[in-house]
Amino acid sequence: MGPFRHQSLGSASLVFTGALVLALSFFSVSLWEFSRTEADDRARIVQLAEAFVGQYAEEHTEGMPLPAAFRRMGLETFLQARLGNTSHAPVTVRVPGPPGAELGFTEPLVHVAEEIDRIAGTRDAGIHEELRVENWRVIGRSIFPTFARSEVCVSCHNRELGTDRYAVGDVMGAFVVESDLTAYVVRGLGYAGVAFGLLLFGYQLLANREHRRTRAIVELEGQVKLERQQREAEAHSNFVLSHDSLTGLARRSVFMDRLKDLCGEGLEAAFFIALIDLDEFKSVNDTMGHDAGDALLVAVGTRLKQIAVEGGGLAARLGGDEFAMIIPQSATYPSMHALGSRLVEFIGCQVTHNGCAIQPSSSIGLCVCVPGRHHDISGLLKHTDAALYAAKNGGKNQFCQFNENILQDLKRRSLITSALPQAIKRDELNVVFQPKVCLSSGRPVEFETLARWDLNSKSVCPSEFVRIAEETGTILDLDLATLMNGARFAVTASSRTGVPVRISSNISALGFRTPNIAEKIVTCLRQASLAPDSVTIEVTESVLVENIETANESLSRLRANGIRVALDDFGTGYSSLRYLQQLVFDEIKIDRSFLQDIARDDEKHFLFVKIVEMAKGLNKEVVVEGIEDQTQLDLAISTGANLGQGYFFSEPLDETAALDYARRLIGNRAGSAAG
Ligand code: C2E
Ligand code: CA
Ligand code: CA
Repeated sequence: MGPFRHQSLGSASLVFTGALVLALSFFSVSLWEFSRTEADDRARIVQLAEAFVGQYAEEHTEGMPLPAAFRRMGLETFLQARLGNTSHAPVTVRVPGPPGAELGFTEPLVHVAEEIDRIAGTRDAGIHEELRVENWRVIGRSIFPTFARSEVCVSCHNRELGTDRYAVGDVMGAFVVESDLTAYVVRGLGYAGVAFGLLLFGYQLLANREHRRTRAIVELEGQVKLERQQREAEAHSNFVLSHDSLTGLARRSVFMDRLKDLCGEGLEAAFFIALIDLDEFKSVNDTMGHDAGDALLVAVGTRLKQIAVEGGGLAARLGGDEFAMIIPQSATYPSMHALGSRLVEFIGCQVTHNGCAIQPSSSIGLCVCVPGRHHDISGLLKHTDAALYAAKNGGKNQFCQFNENILQDLKRRSLITSALPQAIKRDELNVVFQPKVCLSSGRPVEFETLARWDLNSKSVCPSEFVRIAEETGTILDLDLATLMNGARFAVTASSRTGVPVRISSNISALGFRTPNIAEKIVTCLRQASLAPDSVTIEVTESVLVENIETANESLSRLRANGIRVALDDFGTGYSSLRYLQQLVFDEIKIDRSFLQDIARDDEKHFLFVKIVEMAKGLNKEVVVEGIEDQTQLDLAISTGANLGQGYFFSEPLDETAALDYARRLIGNRAGSAAG
C-alpha cells in the first residue's frame, strides 16, 4: 500500500500543476485574443474619428470649433452611444494635445506622455499597444499617433504653440484609447478557476475509479495468488500423500484407484498390468548396505517412470522392492511380450553406487485387461500375482504372462496352501533319508532327512511345498515334523545297527527368525530321545543375510547343545567371506549345481576346485552335493573334500530301505567308496 499511496500523491501534485497550467493557458490565450479584439476595436474608433475629423478639417473655416475640439465632441457622443453594448469593454479616449502646449488637456499618465513626446515631430511612428494593471484594473491601451494633414492645421498649431516645430505629415499628437478589461479578466479568471476545478474534479473521478479498479485488481490478484498457493499446497500434500518419497512413484492407493477407474467404466482399449519384484533385493540391502538398496530402488523407479511415460501409463511402488505398472496397449507396447521384454531388459541394466556395480534383475508378472469382458480388480491382481509367482518359480530374471496353465498352478498352489497345514498337523508327511558318505571309506556317516508329501495320492515336489510352506508361515512346523521323524529314525537305526546313527535335517532360514528356535530343536530331539550330538542342522546361506546377530546366537546355542551346524547349498547365495568367517558352521555343503556338466566345462571345473579349496580353507568339513557318477566322485576326491552326497551313493530312501542301507554299510568296514 505504501508505494501505491506515494505514487498516487506524486501523480496528484502533477495533475494539480497540469490542471493549473491548462486553466491558466486557456485564460491567457483567451485574454490575449480578447485584448487583440479590443485593440482592433480601439483602432476602428480611431479610424472613425479620423475620418470625420479629416473631413471637418478640410471644410473648417474661421469661427468654427477647432478640429480637435470637434473630434473630442464626436468621440464622446460616439462612446456614449456605445455604452449600452455589453459585448465590448468600456472604452475611453483621450486626445492630448501635441507636446509643447495644451491644445486639449494634458496626458495624466507620465509614461504615456513620454511616449507621445517621443513620437511628436517624427513622421513614421506606429501604434503603441500595451496591457497594464493600473489601480487594480486591467487596461488595454493603444496610443495612435495623429499626423498633421494640412498646412492650415500645421500653421494653426505652430501659431498656437508659438513654434515652427511641426510641418505637414509630422506627428502632432495622439489618440490615447483605453479599454477597461478588468471585468473580462475577472470573469476569465473565474472561468479558469472553474475549468481548473472541473479538471481536478474530473481527474479525481477518474483517479477514484482507477484506484477502485486497481484495488479490485490487487485484491483479485491477491485472491488468485492465495488460491494458487492453496492449490499448490494441496497439490503438494496430495503428491506427498500419493507418492513414494524415495522413488517419486505413485503409491499403492493411486495404483488401485487407477485400476478402479479403468475397470469401473466401459473399458475402451486394452491395458496391461505388470507386477514387478526385484530378485535378491534383500541380499543387496544386507551385503552392500541400505544406501545401495535405496540407490537400486531409485534407479529402478526412474526406469519404470520412463517406461510409463513411453507407454502413457502409470508406474507405482507398492512397497519394499515391489512395483506395479498399468500400461495401455498401444503401438509402443502392442503386446505383453513387448512390455515384459522391455521391463526385464531395462531393469537389468547395471546400477553403480559409490563406485560399486549392482546387477539388478526382476521377476515380472503380466496380465491383460480387454474391453468387452468383465474384470474384477482382485481377480486381475490375483492373476498378475500368479504370473509373477510363475516368473519367480521359473528361475527369476524373467517375465511371465498370465495364462490358463498359470491359473491351474494358482489353483494348485491355493490347494496346497490350504491342505499343507492340516497334513503337517495330522503327521501325514513322510520322510526319506539320503546318506552323506565318507569319500575315502565309502561308509555313510549321516542320513539327511528330506520331507515327502502326497496330496490326493500324487506326490508333491518338495521344493514346491517347502516354498509354499515358507510363504504361508508353516515352514517351522514342517521342519520340526521332519526333524522329529528323522530323530525317530536315528533312534531306531541306532538300535538296529548297534552303532549310533547320525541324521541331518533342514531348517529354513525363516525358522531362524524365531528367537527360541534352538530350544525348539532341542525339545524336539529330547521328545524323540535322540542325543543332540547325533544331529546336524542344515541351513541355507540366506540365513546369513536375514539377521546375522540373531542367527549366530541361535547357531551358537545349537552348538552349545552338541548339535552340529551345516551351511547348505553353499555358493548359490550372496554371502560374503566375512559372514562365513563370522558364522559358526561345522560343515559346508557345496551346492550340486557346481558339479552339473562339469566334465564339459573348464570354467565350472576351475570354479568347483576353488570353492572346495576355499571351504576347506575355512577349516570346515566339506560335503560335495550331487555326485552322480564316477567322474564327479573322482573330481570331488581330487579336491580333498572328505564327504559326499548324491545318487551315485544313494537316492533318498524310505525308512525301510534306509535302515537296510545303514545295516549293510555302517557295520561294514569296506574301504571302497562306492556302495
Ligand atoms: P537340499 O537340502 O539340497 O536336499 C537335497 C536335494 O537334492 C534333495 O532333493 C535330493 O533328492 C536332491 N539330490 C540328492 N542327490 C542328488 C543328485 O545326485 N542329483 C540330483 N539331481 N539331486 C540330488 P529334494 O528331496 O527334492 O529336496 C529339495 C529341497 O527341498 C532340499 O534341498 C531342501 O532344501 C528342501 N527340503 C526337503 N525337505 C525339507 C524339509 O523338511 N525342510 C526344509 N526346510 N527343506 C526341505
Ligand atoms: Ca539339505
Ligand atoms: Ca543342498
